[in-house]
Amino acid sequence: MARSAAGVRMFSDDGRCVADPLLMRRALEYSTALGIVVAQHAEDPRLTVGAQAHEGERAARLGYTGWPPSAEESVVARDCVLARHAGARLHVCHVSATGTVDVLDWAKGLGTAVSAEVTPHHLLLTDERLGTHDPVNKVNPPLRTDADTARLRQALADGLLDCVATDHAPHAVQDKDREWAAAPPGMLGLQTALSVVTHTMVRTGLLDWRGVARVLSERPAEIVGLPDQGRPLAVGEPANLVVVDPEAEWTVRGAELASVAANTPYEGLRLPGVVRATLLRGRLTSREGKTV
Ligand SMILES: [Zn+2]
Repeated sequence: MARSAAGVRMFSDDGRCVADPLLMRRALEYSTALGIVVAQHAEDPRLTVGAQAHEGERAARLGYTGWPPSAEESVVARDCVLARHAGARLHVCHVSATGTVDVLDWAKGLGTAVSAEVTPHHLLLTDERLGTHDPVNKVNPPLRTDADTARLRQALADGLLDCVATDHAPHAVQDKDREWAAAPPGMLGLQTALSVVTHTMVRTGLLDWRGVARVLSERPAEIVGLPDQGRPLAVGEPANLVVVDPEAEWTVRGAELASVAANTPYEGLRLPGVVRATLLRGRLTSREGKTV
């Protein structure tokens, strides 16, 4: 009742992990009664004090304090246990590490009502980008290793990771364009998401276009409970559609993106998959990149 009255489908404190287990337990218990899913930004704050980049050889060489994968894995493991005991639904935001996939495998095997997302940037980019010293590559959780991107791609293909979400974070030039340690984390991701998924998942043979619809549309709609979104293409269904040319390619130019910000980590990159048109409830809303 409260949920339908307010239209609330998900509670989140993204950016700031609910580190207190008692608070998280209560949040999960209350949300169960309301039928709402709780989304967690899994980051143990004690394990990531001063963290600047993925904890590894590259961060060490540059003198950056590391953000260890265990800070994510341990919170996801704890939340899965709490959710199972509370009979609650948990959603894990932006999974970045191999070990977190293992935790999800274990928790889902036990029947825990947990769903999880991965960002396009964690499917494609690694901490090799630290070598650029460009804070456009600074993000939270951080870009990790080749082994992590490979595992995240496989887990998305297998359904262990449910969906793709962008963690889209525009920043003004004056805020983002400073030395690495002083720059805020976050990057643009919305307009490039489909192309990065096409590049990392379709061109590699890990997903077909049916699978793309599942991870970018159907599962997100199911997780937050949007009954008129992520529906099959059929007579009588709502026409909420994206028309894609899968063979066409485009070159990312931050200045040309439909955002007031330009902090894209894909600047100059040629990517496959061009959106030709979008429709919402049967009405054309964009065509060739222009709002109708
Ligand atoms: Zn977050």
